[in-house]
Amino acid sequence: MARLWDINLTRNKGLDEEVDNNKDVDYMQIIIKNCIKCNNCGDVIESTSVHDFKMCSCGRVGVDGGREYLRRLFADGQDDFEELSVVQE
Ligand SMILES: [Zn+2]
Repeated sequence: MARLWDINLTRNKGLDEEVDNNKDVDYMQIIIKNCIKCNNCGDVIESTSVHDFKMCSCGRVGVDGGREYLRRLFADGQDDFEELSVVQE
């Protein structure tokens, strides 16, 4: 399979940073739902827990992080998927 982009959309947390749930709690987004729709195959995939990694059936996009962080994997760009997550600021 082709290499996928791997990004973390969660504010204040880069992929290179340590994920510390006890720090910066005041600035964290509250993730209600971590969910995207693949624009290629139409699959809606949701990550329901922190290590619940899901790929769509065509393999172009993936989600991970559950309610802890919004991790996205995609083949070309963020146009590969439609964001369906629900996040409370
Ligand atoms: Zn797909």
